[in-house]
Amino acid sequence: MTIETITWSAYIVAALLFILALAGLSKHETAKVGNLFGIAGMTVALAATVALVVDLKISTTGIVLLVAAMLIGALIGLQRARVVEMTQMPELIAMLHSFVGLAAVLVGWNGYLLVEHEPNGAEALHLDALGTLGIHHAEVSIGIFIGAVTFTGSIVAYGKLAGKFNSAPLVLPGKNLINLGSLVVFAALTAWFVVDPQLWQLIAITALALALGWHLVASIGGGDMPVVVSMLNSYSGWAAAAAGFLLENDLLIITGALVGSSGAYLSYIMCRAMNRSFISVIAGGFGIEAPSGDAVDYGEHHEINAEGTAELLGEAKSVIITPGYGMAVAQAQYGVAELTNRLRERGVEVRFGIHPVAGRLPGHMNVLLAEAKVPYDIVLELDEINDDFPETDVVLVIGANDTVNPAATDDPTSPIAGMPVLSVWESKKVIVFKRSMASGYAGVQNPLFFRDNTSMLFGDAKDRVNDILAAL
Ligand code: NDP
Repeated sequence: MTIETITWSAYIVAALLFILALAGLSKHETAKVGNLFGIAGMTVALAATVALVVDLKISTTGIVLLVAAMLIGALIGLQRARVVEMTQMPELIAMLHSFVGLAAVLVGWNGYLLVEHEPNGAEALHLDALGTLGIHHAEVSIGIFIGAVTFTGSIVAYGKLAGKFNSAPLVLPGKNLINLGSLVVFAALTAWFVVDPQLWQLIAITALALALGWHLVASIGGGDMPVVVSMLNSYSGWAAAAAGFLLENDLLIITGALVGSSGAYLSYIMCRAMNRSFISVIAGGFGIEAPSGDAVDYGEHHEINAEGTAELLGEAKSVIITPGYGMAVAQAQYGVAELTNRLRERGVEVRFGIHPVAGRLPGHMNVLLAEAKVPYDIVLELDEINDDFPETDVVLVIGANDTVNPAATDDPTSPIAGMPVLSVWESKKVIVFKRSMASGYAGVQNPLFFRDNTSMLFGDAKDRVNDILAAL
C-alpha cells in the first residue's frame, strides 16, 4: 500500500470524525464528546498530511520550516487559548477566521505563481494535458476573492467586538450599489482572467475583495454582529474549501464545506431568532438605513440598593433572572446560582430567561449557568418564557441591556427595531444590575431604565449579588 493510499484513507476517517464532532456539538449533553471527535479528526488529518509531505522527499530545510511553523503556531495557539477570557472568545474567533482567509489568499497566489506565471512550467503543462487549466484559473480567482473578503471582514469584526472600532454601521452613500457593483466587477475580471490570465487582474481582484470585505462588515451595526461572526465562520469554510480545490486536497474541501454550510445555517437560525433578513445581513446590511441618532429625554431613573432588593426578593413568589454580557464580565454566575438556591429553598419560583444573542457568543449564558450548576430545567429560552412576565413579581436583569430594550418593539426607527426582546417591563418590578447608565453593545439608549417599575442597582454585578446574599 502506498503512502498516498494510506493518507487518503486517513482523510476519510478524519472527515467522518469531523461530521461526528458537529453532530456532538449540537447538544449540551454530547458537546464534550463532540469536541473529542474534532480533536481526534484534526490529529489524524495533521499526521496524514505530514506523512504525505515527508514522502514527497522535500528538502531538509523544507521539513525544518514545516516543523518550526507548526511548533510556533501550536505555542501561540496554546498560549492564547489559556489566557483568553470567555468574554473575549468572539474576538478570538473573528481573528482566527482572518487567518483562514489570509491562508486562502496565499494559497491562491501560490497557485498563480506556479501555473499562470509560468505557462511553460511543469505544473501548467500537467494541468494543460489534463485539460483543467481553465478550471485552475477560475479556482485561483475565486479562492483569492473569498479569502480576501474573509480576511478584512474578520479584521473589522475583531475590531468591533474588541471595542477598537465603532460598532455603529458605516453608511456610505450608495452602499448597496458598491457591494453589488463589486460583485459584478469581480465576475467580469474572473471571466477575463480565465480566458487570458494576467498579473494585474489578480492584483485588482485581491484589492477589490479586501475592500469589499472591509465594507461589508463595517456596514453592519452592533446588534447584528452575532450573525456576522457566524457568517464569517461560514466564509472561512468556503475559503478553506477553495484552497482545497487548488491544493487538490479532498479533506480540506470536505472540512471547508462542513464549516461553510454549518456556519451559513447557524447565521440563518440567528437571523430568524433576531427577526432579521438573512439576505440583508449577508449583503452587508442591505436595506438598513442609518439610525436617526436623536437623543430622547426619557426622564429620571430610580435607584435601589442591595438591601432593598433583598427585601423585594424576600416578599416575591416568582422571580425571573435575565442575564446578559455584564454577568459574564463580572463572573457573577456563581453568586447568581447561590442566590437562586437560597430563593428556591424559601419556596420562591426562580427561572432564567435566556435571549438567543445574550452575551457575546451563541449559548454564552447557557454555558456560564451550566458552569455554575444552575439546573437546566429552570433555564428557559425567550419563546418559552416571554409570556410569563406579567405574572412575575420581580425580574433581575443582571448585566443585560440590548436584549431587554423595549425600543426594539416600540420604536420603529431604533437600530434594533424588530429584534425580539425579553419583555421584562411587563412584570411587577424590574431591578437592573449595571455599573452606569451607559448603553449596551448596539449603542442604543434603553428606555427600560426610566420606567416607573424599574430600579437601577448600580455597581459590579458580582459585588451586588454578594451584597444581596449577605442581606438575605
Ligand atoms: P449588552 O452588551 O447590551 O449590555 C451589557 C451590559 O452589561 C452593559 O450595558 C453594561 O453596562 C453591563 N455591564 C458590563 N460589565 C458589567 C459588570 N461588571 N457588572 C454589571 N454590569 C456590567 O448585553 P446583552 O447581553 O443584553 O446583549 C448582547 C449584545 O451583544 C446584543 O446587542 C448582541 O447583538 C451583541 N452580540 C451578541 C453576540 C452573541 O452571539 N450573543 C455576539 C456579538 C454581539 P455598564 O457599562 O453600565 O455596566
